[in-house]
Amino acid sequence: MSKVSIIGSGVAGLSAACFSAKNGHEVTVFEKNEGIGGRARQFSENGFVFDMGPSWYWMPDVFENFFNQFGKTTADYYNLVQLNPGFRMIFGEQDFLDVPASATDQYALFESIEPGAGNALKLFLDDAEVKYKEGMLKLAYMPGQSWLEFLKPSVIRAAAGLNMFSSVSRHVRRYFNDRRLIMMMEFPVLFLGAMPSHIPALYTLMNYAALGQGTFYPIGGMFNIIDAMHQLALSLGVKFETGAPVTKIGIAGKKANAIHIGDKVLPTDAVIAAGDYHHVEQALLEAQYRNYTEGYWDKRVLAPSSLIFYVGVSKKLPNLLHHNLFFDTDFEVHSKEIYDTPKWPTAPLFYVSCPSKTDDTVAPAYHENLFILIPVAPGLNEAACDRDAYYEKVMDRMEKICRTSIREHVVYKKSYCVNDFKADYNAYKGNAYGLANTLRQTAVLKPSIRNAKVSNLLYAGQLTVPGPGVPPSLISGELAAKITHNHLKSSI
Ligand SMILES: Cc1cc2nc3c(=O)[nH]c(=O)nc-3n(C[C@H](O)[C@H](O)[C@H](O)COP(=O)(O)OP(=O)(O)OC[C@H]3O[C@@H](n4cnc5c(N)ncnc54)[C@H](O)[C@@H]3O)c2cc1C
Repeated sequence: MSKVSIIGSGVAGLSAACFSAKNGHEVTVFEKNEGIGGRARQFSENGFVFDMGPSWYWMPDVFENFFNQFGKTTADYYNLVQLNPGFRMIFGEQDFLDVPASATDQYALFESIEPGAGNALKLFLDDAEVKYKEGMLKLAYMPGQSWLEFLKPSVIRAAAGLNMFSSVSRHVRRYFNDRRLIMMMEFPVLFLGAMPSHIPALYTLMNYAALGQGTFYPIGGMFNIIDAMHQLALSLGVKFETGAPVTKIGIAGKKANAIHIGDKVLPTDAVIAAGDYHHVEQALLEAQYRNYTEGYWDKRVLAPSSLIFYVGVSKKLPNLLHHNLFFDTDFEVHSKEIYDTPKWPTAPLFYVSCPSKTDDTVAPAYHENLFILIPVAPGLNEAACDRDAYYEKVMDRMEKICRTSIREHVVYKKSYCVNDFKADYNAYKGNAYGLANTLRQTAVLKPSIRNAKVSNLLYAGQLTVPGPGVPPSLISGELAAKITHNHLKSSI
């Protein structure tokens, strides 16, 4: 039995732990924080239960596939419900679109806004489904080690139809003219950390996830995913050490041989580093063992950071759904402030999740649980940020659009921003979702899953393949565990 050490208990670390244990290894997960889950942690306060990071449960088949590989289903752990409407896009006072769950209702909605858009949506989603099946269910499971992986005839055939060299924004405009429909079709790729004009059209697979498959929610909150993976890992014999910040990866003869936690040195046969990639390389490895330099990282396009407010309200808010996107200010201006000339945004778009619309367990009776997220450029100096001023700005707009008072009913409030991401997760520039999925940061062009100089050191998580988001992080853990297992088998 070989010892596999995993750094980080986020989705990627938990996935890597489960697969490594299933492969017969003795697995320990080291987590710097007191609680597990990384960016997908949860906290409870005053009767409210807040998911700290992810709130959109998309791509249910990826989760199902994960648990199926252990003879389980998600239903063994949590109760998943589909939201209908899936989400609300707000463009102004009494100007919003609710995206229905069923295809027929979606076509009717699009047709009612732009003649011909119903049929265009069907064609768009048929194409997006092909991309999803090739991109998410096949290409995402390739470790991106060499272009040779992509030279298989089946992959070449598939890639030819994936519009790698067109952008999401160009692709969307081939189908739709209406401003609001274009925004709706472009919004899902914002999760990938760049403007739709910089994201390959392959990623309209996200539209298939958002509309074709739908938006789901595990009752009790997104942390259920973490809890389920944790339970599975424990049942497979994985050990967890929390409050255990790894300070160094010990190396001898080009092999990782120890995990250092301060003065404690623990022997290991392999390491899967599922903490933020930049931190692992720059802080835990000596320079000669790093894949990349500080200069390399500085040139990467990072996905945004976020200013988040976790808010408890002592009344029901009738004009909100579970997922609400406030696109009531200029998208172009905000995106420039994130990507082109990074600065604290002037009149940002924001997103509000209100899980208490679906789930009685996350707020006291007749209360609402709000998660308010403003995307901001990574690496901004927080000294120049007035969190309270942003809170007032979003409350002004929410009260206007919801046509009700909210502020005076707030009974709990906590904010979270760039410096918290750095302190809690060792996040490079305080990024929230890792690296953007631009063409130059896709597949082989992403930071490598393998350390090129240390044969038994792998990376997992949102900064390596296949990319940001819970489902990709889940897959990256599986890939890293598979490569580690093959390596350990071959070195016996
Ligand atoms: C605000 C926000 C909203 C999001 N919304 C969504 C969404 O709606 N849907 C979706 O699919 N995805 C969403 N995401 C993205 C998704 O949450 C992440 O891609 C995913 O959770 C990343 O998992 P990970 O395992 O790669 O990293 P992490 O979750 O960050 O896990 C890494 C772990 O490593 C630990 N660590 C770091 N350094 C050390 C060290 N030296 N020693 C020990 N441990 C260490 C950290 O504490 C952390 O626990 C969101 C993310 C954020 C932040």
